[in-house]
Amino acid sequence: MSDIIRLLPDSVANQIAAGEVIQRPGSAVKELLENAIDAGGDTIELIIKDAGKTLIQIIDNGCGMSPTDARMSFERHATSKIKTAEDLFRIRTFGFRGEALASIAAIAQVEMKTRRIEDELGTHLIIEGSTVKSQQPCACPAGTSIQIKNLFFNVPARRNFLKSDPAELRHIIEEFERVVLVNPGIAFNFTNNGKPLFQLPKSGLKQRIANAMGTVNFEKLISVNQETNVVKVSGFIGKPENARKTKGEQYFFANNRYIRHPYLNHAVEEAFHDLIPEGYFPSYFLFLEVDPAQIDINIHPTKTEVNFQDHQTIYAILRSAVRASIGKYSLSSTLDFDAEQSFNFNFPKDKQVNAPGIHINPEFNPFTKNPQPELRLTPGSDYRSNDTNNWEKLYEGLRQEAGTEPIGQTMIIGSNFGTEGQGDRGFMQLQNRYIITKVKSGLMVIDQQAAHERILFERYLDRIEQKKGMAQQQLFPHTVKLSAPDTELVNELLGEISLLGFIIEPFGPNTFIINGTPADLPDENIQEFLENVLENYKKNQLGLKLDRKSNLARSMARNLAIRPGKVLMTEEMQSLVDDLFACRVPNLSPSGKTITVIIGTDDLDKRFN
Ligand code: ADP
Ligand code: MG
Repeated sequence: MSDIIRLLPDSVANQIAAGEVIQRPGSAVKELLENAIDAGGDTIELIIKDAGKTLIQIIDNGCGMSPTDARMSFERHATSKIKTAEDLFRIRTFGFRGEALASIAAIAQVEMKTRRIEDELGTHLIIEGSTVKSQQPCACPAGTSIQIKNLFFNVPARRNFLKSDPAELRHIIEEFERVVLVNPGIAFNFTNNGKPLFQLPKSGLKQRIANAMGTVNFEKLISVNQETNVVKVSGFIGKPENARKTKGEQYFFANNRYIRHPYLNHAVEEAFHDLIPEGYFPSYFLFLEVDPAQIDINIHPTKTEVNFQDHQTIYAILRSAVRASIGKYSLSSTLDFDAEQSFNFNFPKDKQVNAPGIHINPEFNPFTKNPQPELRLTPGSDYRSNDTNNWEKLYEGLRQEAGTEPIGQTMIIGSNFGTEGQGDRGFMQLQNRYIITKVKSGLMVIDQQAAHERILFERYLDRIEQKKGMAQQQLFPHTVKLSAPDTELVNELLGEISLLGFIIEPFGPNTFIINGTPADLPDENIQEFLENVLENYKKNQLGLKLDRKSNLARSMARNLAIRPGKVLMTEEMQSLVDDLFACRVPNLSPSGKTITVIIGTDDLDKRFN
């Protein structure tokens, strides 16, 4: 019997490869857009007919190709982008496998016109099912125009497999949006069946997001910026109050390539989670830049999954970068910094005043044993050394001012407006539930319970997350007896509860012995306190999708926060307000309630007219 193994002809091999690379019109659009971008021009036009089934045309004003390169570009493994295997680890262009054009030519009728700027004449090439039909010199603009007609004309099974035009068009738009978001410096036009769908001029990233996404409003974006030596994070997030019920507007790009990454998505949602209601999703457009050697690029061209060597570190950095941006935004909207004219703090005259900003610790290293969140404005933390550029200092300015100019006495309503002269810092309590203090633009009213809940929440969360609870030994151990389900729950949460500062151990059936409690826990009935916290925890478990740590921190805060009706001394108000403004998110309570309201002098003026 004769030998039976044969090499497949190129046309067949290409068709097989095409099945992997080009699954639908959207994948051809993606490949061609990426080629056009790699070509380095600044204007790209996409024209399609019948959702790309009849025609996909892409015109760029990039580098163009010589006649020989034009012919070569359709060969399998023909690429100008890598030469050696090592290049794979440095690659920054989009394509590099040299498969796209060969695959497309295997399953469509392709016509290309291309010219390099330095050449007088360009090349006109026609290829059908991997066969070159003609190649001739032609007059054409510098750059490349490529037309893909009748995709899958020779693979009826695949053609029949395509979805309806609206569905295929949706795929194309999806690919288009991913590409245009990364390339705001390139102008894009996109028409379908003669109707313009997108007209995107060159712009900055923020404007591009607004132009391309349509539903995203320019004003609704908060910038994110964080540079570490592992990863550089930049881009924009939607404001918490603009979270949406669909997951549509969530984009990650790694080294300017669109990626899907459920794990990192979780990091972003974590950063938002105590700020948006359940069932809503934050919008984000986040760019991660890592050393190409740290990211697994040996991936299938149609796949958007990637692996980072350092994904846990990136997770931590991403989450804290997003949190920092949210915190900065919510603080600035509280203190109304856009109206900075009317908001002059009393800085000592000899000090240089910088624009308000959030502090990032350049030394921050999430690898260290006790990582500190980078955003640390707490008094006594390391980050505030020799710099006026932080909120705490700004707040001090506010405090000084309030101290020297007491609020008009005629406005006393509560029982505790300071009257002790020197010690008076201009705080008053209204109906034993609001703290009122003066800011330059008017009056700031602070909900005392919500403020305290925020402070305690962040404190307990930090304790659990940074794993250093401070327990205070009890003189007499307490035993608490719980219901069977609560016993289960405590056993499940034992680790976290200990981190909060409880010294607690199981002690017989449904019983625990408590030898120590967190130092800041008031001496009250521990049994009752624990039951209340567990009750709250269970309630949160039902309604909200909180992780264990946040839920526990929230339940503790809820039970320990001062209530309306609690009379506060001036010093207590002072330290509450100080602590509040040292929080990461000082104007929203853990459950999303507003903590501070500013009544502007403007408003008052209007009312008196
Ligand atoms: P890859 O992009 O992976 O290199 P392709 O099959 O997509 O493979 O393209 C093959 C080659 O053709 C590219 O490496 C590039 O040199 C050239 N090429 C493709 N499209 C263009 C274009 N629009 N302008 C200039 N050169 C192009
Ligand atoms: Mg390519």
